[in-house]
Amino acid sequence: MKSLYENEMKLEFLSKSNNEAFARISVAAFASQLDPTIEEMADIKTAVSEAVTNSIVHGYENMNGMVKIICKIFANCIEIEISDTGKGIENVEMARKPLYTSKPNLERSGMGFTIMESFMDEVSVESVFGLGTKVTMKKFIKKEELKENTEEMELANLGGR
Ligand code: ATP
Ligand code: MG
Repeated sequence: MKSLYENEMKLEFLSKSNNEAFARISVAAFASQLDPTIEEMADIKTAVSEAVTNSIVHGYENMNGMVKIICKIFANCIEIEISDTGKGIENVEMARKPLYTSKPNLERSGMGFTIMESFMDEVSVESVFGLGTKVTMKKFIKKEELKENTEEMELANLGGR
């Protein structure tokens, strides 16, 4: 079957905290074909790390479960879907609020969703309490010409000072 996307990959791993680095690095390797800047790459890694950590810590509460990642590339956009079949979120709107955490005693700061939202262009959260959670994030990687133009403009601006 032909995919609707230019490229696609799927990854599934056990909800162990040492798989967080594996997930973050694997998505970064897949994203590298869009030629992101170091900053864009760091944004993707941080967002993936937050979503995967949430699945491990909140979704499965450190018990064994599978975390699934699907990455799709179309044009200059990477879409990353991270899902678990853990406990789910009762109130997604409340969970997305900055500083909201259901585990304040574990030194969580409640900033995971806020970080995902600020580093990615789109973030959507679907969750069914008792069934699991799916976070879908999109990032648009600037085209090479645009990057060069921006750099030139920045240099020109500096020169004018
Ligand atoms: P931090 O990310 O700063 O360490 P946090 O994980 O509590 O703290 P968020 O990542 O913003 O903060 O998540 C907010 C809340 O949403 C969590 O405290 C948890 O209750 C809920 N949540 C997030 N992801 C999931 C998930 N995959 N399954 C179940 N609950 C989740
Ligand atoms: Mg979190």
